Amino acid sequence: MSLIKNSLLNTYKRLPVSFVKGEGVWLFDKLGNKYLDGLSGVAVNTLGHNHPDLVKTITEQAKKLIHVSNYYHIEEQCLLAKKITSLSKLSSVFFCNSGCEANEASIKLARLHGHSLSIDNPEIIVMEKAFHGRTMATLSATGSRKAQAGFEPLMSGFIRVPFDDLEAIDKIATKKNKVTAILVEPIQGEGGVNVPANFISYLVGLRKICDKNNWLLIFDEVQCGVGRTGKWFAHQHAGVLPDIMTLAKGLASGVPIGACVVNEKTEKLISPGKHGSTFGGNPLACAAGLTTLNVIERDGLMSNAVRQGKEIVSILEKGIGNHDGVKSIRHMGLMIGVELNKPCYELIEIALGEKLLINVTADNVIRLLPPLIISHSEATLLAEHLIKIIDKFLDA
Ligand code: PLP
Repeated sequence: MSLIKNSLLNTYKRLPVSFVKGEGVWLFDKLGNKYLDGLSGVAVNTLGHNHPDLVKTITEQAKKLIHVSNYYHIEEQCLLAKKITSLSKLSSVFFCNSGCEANEASIKLARLHGHSLSIDNPEIIVMEKAFHGRTMATLSATGSRKAQAGFEPLMSGFIRVPFDDLEAIDKIATKKNKVTAILVEPIQGEGGVNVPANFISYLVGLRKICDKNNWLLIFDEVQCGVGRTGKWFAHQHAGVLPDIMTLAKGLASGVPIGACVVNEKTEKLISPGKHGSTFGGNPLACAAGLTTLNVIERDGLMSNAVRQGKEIVSILEKGIGNHDGVKSIRHMGLMIGVELNKPCYELIEIALGEKLLINVTADNVIRLLPPLIISHSEATLLAEHLIKIIDKFLDA
């Protein structure tokens, strides 16, 4: 372990464990200890670990072709793009390798939109507590001073408003402004699993404001997308369409991929030479993405996400919902947050000691993002296990 530590840049505070294999929702360390994975590598392992269909696809694809340049047509890329556009009712896809890259593409498109309207310094409305990535543009769009501190000067061109507050945006819209887009997570992940109080009217309201002002509506679905909330994309619960949607994390179940998905109006803004990515959309990642989406569909994993999400939350509510230390339990499908009345990062290590993988975000929100293949008995176990840990922590 120390050798690894000594040769890596110190960007992560790592937990004292190293996994050597996985199976479904379970991970195993070198000593054979078995851990229940309630985090999926932060919403990445959609199909859990070692899924036979995914392993088969990756193995077969690796034998055929791993990478060719985007100078050529890539069939797997076209197939995945076709699937994503048909599921999202959007028009075309730019593939990259991560969430921040997908968001970078969306920011560049918003600026192109502004310039097409002769706005020299276009601005994008972004949210407090938002998280969009760690590159300079996405970090500047992110609403966390903790993430930004030390990296100034940040990029200009972002106006910040509170999340879930249409009036704040309306106020900007009524004044003279250079806004060309709104960038928002339908459900904030890193910010604390924040579900808008009235999800539907918030998203419908955002769409209306964008239509009225000719702004692009960009949904960052990097964390909440790809079936996790019970629909392919979280915004589909509200029946609205964005101009741009960004995806990554769970799209290929662990193989790095990102996607910036756009509608017909937006696709007209770009032409060859304006944007690109060497690795983006390589055959291996796209084949893995296609299998992930097909398995979600074939095995009914979106309805499973709804069922198991409800089960976990109902057990949590019964077990700790009335505890003074629990401020709220929020969720949509298998994106679950338990907000405590005090900071609780230490719970991550306590849970690890109990062979349970969870996360804490925004200081006091326990976050669960289990694989979509989680069974009823595993979901029950996860919730019951967590209750014991939280109870002990709050009563200490
Ligand atoms: N957008 C959202 C909503 C995220 O949750 C994240 C990562 O947590 C990102 C963007 C950045 O994704 P990546 O780490 O793949 O760059």
